Amino acid sequence: MRKALHILVPFSLVILALAVARTHGAELVRWDARAAEPLGLSPLSALVVAALVLPVVPALLFNQVRVMLLAGLLLGAYAMAGWPAPALTPAAARLLAPLFALVTLFLTYLRERGLANRFGLARLAVAILPLLLLSILDRAAADVLRAAPGPDWLYHPAPGTATPYFAALVAALAVAALARLRGTEYPIIAPAFAAAIVAATIGLDRSLPAQLPLAFIAAGLALLWTVYLLSWGRAYEDPLTGLLGRRALEETLSKLTGQYALAMADVDRFKRFNDTYGHETGDDVLRLVAKLLRRNAPGTVFRYGGEEFAIVMPGMTAEAAARALEEVRREIAATPLVLRRRAKRRPKSRQTTVTVSFGVAEPVGAEKTPAQVLAAADRALYKAKQAGRNRVAAA
Ligand code: GH3
Ligand code: MG
Ligand code: MG
Repeated sequence: MRKALHILVPFSLVILALAVARTHGAELVRWDARAAEPLGLSPLSALVVAALVLPVVPALLFNQVRVMLLAGLLLGAYAMAGWPAPALTPAAARLLAPLFALVTLFLTYLRERGLANRFGLARLAVAILPLLLLSILDRAAADVLRAAPGPDWLYHPAPGTATPYFAALVAALAVAALARLRGTEYPIIAPAFAAAIVAATIGLDRSLPAQLPLAFIAAGLALLWTVYLLSWGRAYEDPLTGLLGRRALEETLSKLTGQYALAMADVDRFKRFNDTYGHETGDDVLRLVAKLLRRNAPGTVFRYGGEEFAIVMPGMTAEAAARALEEVRREIAATPLVLRRRAKRRPKSRQTTVTVSFGVAEPVGAEKTPAQVLAAADRALYKAKQAGRNRVAAA
């Protein structure tokens, strides 16, 4: 559901821009021209600049230099395209969209490595040079450009069509290339970048009135949506397991009322596991345990910290929760771990298992607040450990 939204929102923005250009484009262009006269500034251009500058600061704060570079490239492409009058000769203008798309794809394909280092600066140069060259060539060698590259149908499949084939091609390429951006943030970044590239391509096509500024506003908003989602994830999600973190747990607990059950889960003898197989393998195990918990637990799973997880089960009794968690416990204990890395102290087998202990509690008697119930669950967990681990204990 959340992933669908990641794709739906940025592409809806692009479609909305096209729809507005189709229905209100001519009106907007007239309004823009009228308002520009006394202001000395096109309001549509001002909106484009605002939409593209807004994501820049949060992008830098969250070390998303690719988002910043893409916003900068969009600004550059918009300035080069020229609004309201085209700034480039038609021959050079034809090259702007493909050039922009290729540069953006190249930049986004690279791993995020910050700005203030030689990688970042090299990227900045790669981002600026092609557009700079094009603006120089526009004056110097328009004749050469007129001959290249490819036939017109590549850009305009039919007269008056707002979406050139080229945009579809770029969209497909963008999604495929961006599939390299792995990690937990890929589902957020990839669709927004693809949408921004498509928006720019459509905007530079400028077959509808006001299509250029509207599409670029959509691109800026798609980037803004990305940094908003990224900051949400950084605030609420644990980067190792992708589970919700401590802050999300506290907020969820503060909203709990009525009947509910809380559980604390702790990986058994995890220190020994780390010592035997190394911390990286330990991290793999935490990811696997998190995945199994999320898939099977009868509630929302949070990473409490270290190798401890909290499970919030609204509407459930402790007894029902304990029964369900017993299934989860069994499932984890029965799941073989295939170790990817060589063990430090050479165990006989490269396949092993981990077990998890659970403590469950519900509000009873004097222990009514969620914080008290969680403390009771933690005491129950301690009982489970004392009783030999790999078991579920109720408060
Ligand atoms: P018990 O069965 O009593 O829970 O024993 P334990 O060894 O699991 O308990 P203890 O709390 O002594 O050790 C927890 C260990 O978890 C210590 C630490 O090395 C490890 N750990 C905590 N967070 C992480 C993490 O993010 N990654 C890895 N690899 N290890 C972690
Ligand atoms: Mg522990
Ligand atoms: Mg433990």
